[in-house]
Amino acid sequence: MRSAQSEVVRARWVLPIAEPPVEDGFVEIDNGRIVSVGPWTERGTLDRTVTNLGDAVLMPGLVNAHTHLELSWMAGRVPPKSAMDEWIRELMTVRRIGHEGGPEAISKAAVDAAIAMVESGTVLVGDISNTLITPGLIAASGLRGVVFHELIGFAATDPERIVREAGHRLEEHRTLPLELGVVAHAPYSVSADLIGAIARAPRTTPLAIHLGESAEEMEFIATGQGPIRRTLEHLGVWNDAWPVPGCDPAEYVDRLGYLQPGTLVVHGVHFGPAAIGRLKDRGAVLVSCPRSNRWVGSGAPPLAAYYRAGVPVAFGTDSLASAPTLNLFDELAEARRIAPEVPASLLVDSATRRGAVALGLGAEYGTIEPGKRAALIAVRLRGPSGRFGETDVPASAETSVEEYLVSGNVRAPQDVRLIRPR
Ligand SMILES: [Zn+2]
Repeated sequence: MRSAQSEVVRARWVLPIAEPPVEDGFVEIDNGRIVSVGPWTERGTLDRTVTNLGDAVLMPGLVNAHTHLELSWMAGRVPPKSAMDEWIRELMTVRRIGHEGGPEAISKAAVDAAIAMVESGTVLVGDISNTLITPGLIAASGLRGVVFHELIGFAATDPERIVREAGHRLEEHRTLPLELGVVAHAPYSVSADLIGAIARAPRTTPLAIHLGESAEEMEFIATGQGPIRRTLEHLGVWNDAWPVPGCDPAEYVDRLGYLQPGTLVVHGVHFGPAAIGRLKDRGAVLVSCPRSNRWVGSGAPPLAAYYRAGVPVAFGTDSLASAPTLNLFDELAEARRIAPEVPASLLVDSATRRGAVALGLGAEYGTIEPGKRAALIAVRLRGPSGRFGETDVPASAETSVEEYLVSGNVRAPQDVRLIRPR
C-alpha cells in the first residue's frame, strides 16, 4: 500500500469530513493519495517524513461549485442593485461594450481569478462558460472540476442541432484534466425546446441551471409577464409561441426533463416548500451563492429550509461581477450569517464533500479518506490578538474548529496553504 516515499502531515486539527474533527491528528500521504488518517497518538510506528503544521486545520480543499471565471474582468463594473432585472440589464450593457483591453485583458482577469481561487483553498470548481476561453486556463492554474458550457437562446430554433454543435465545441478541450458538459442558462433565457434537448443529450457531467434566483423570474414563469418579458421584447428575442408555464420554475424545468438526479439548481432563492420538496424528490442539488444573491438584489436563500428538507447543498461564489471575491471561506461566512441555525459542520460539509459529490467527483475529492486524492489545504488558526499560534482558539470540536472556519476568520492568501505532496 505505501512506498518508502510516503509522508505524514500533522496538525492541531484534522477535518476528515467523513468523520468528526480529530484534535492533534495526522494524515499519511503516498504518491498523491491518502493512506491513513487519525489521532497522532495512533500513528503507529511510522518511520516517515513528518511535516508539523502546528496551529492549523488540515482539511480537504474546498469546492466552488458555481462561478463564471470568464466574467472576472467585470469585477467592480456592475454595482449592487436592489432588483435583479436592473442588475442584469447593466451586466448586459457592460458585456456588450466589452473590456477596453480586449480579449487579452479578459483572459488575464480570468487567470488572476483562478490563481486567487487556488490561493484561498479551492481545489475543485464548477465553472460556467459561454465562450469556452476558460478550460485551458483553469487546468493550467491547477484547479480541477467541471466546465459547464452554457447555452442561451430564448428564440432558438433547431435545438437538437444547437446542442450537437455545443458538444462539438467541447471536443478540442477533451485532453484537459477536466470534465465538460453542456447546460442551460436559465428558464427565462433558454426556450422550452432547447432546455428539453439539453436534458435529453448524452452527458458525463451533471446538468446545471440558474433557477429560482429572483422574484422577477418567479413572476415570468408563472404569468409570462413582468420585467423579464419586457427585457426579452426589448432584446427582440421574445417568442409568442412560448407556452407560459404557469407554475414555479422548478416544476417547469421538471416537466422538461431537466430535474434529474444530481442536477445542480443554482440559487433557489425564491423557492418555498413545494419547489424545495420537488428538488428533494428528484435528487437535485442546491448550489447556493448567498453573497451574489445579495449583490444583485434578489434576496437571501432559505438555506436552513433546504438543509431541513434533506436537499444536498453545495456552495459557489458566482462571478466577480456579483461577488467581491472568489474565496469560498467568505461565502461560508455569509451562509453562516443568514442561516445561524445550520450547524457549522454542515456548512463545511457542503463546501467540501457535498460540493465534490455535486460535481460528480466525490470518489476522488471532498473528504480525507484512504484512497482519495490528497487535495488538501491547511488553514492557520488566528488567535484573539490576530497573531498566529494563540492556542486558546478553538476550544472544542463542534463549537469551535468548524465554527471558526465559517465565521469570517480565514483570510486569503495569508491564512491558507495548499498541501502539495512531494
Ligand atoms: Zn451564475
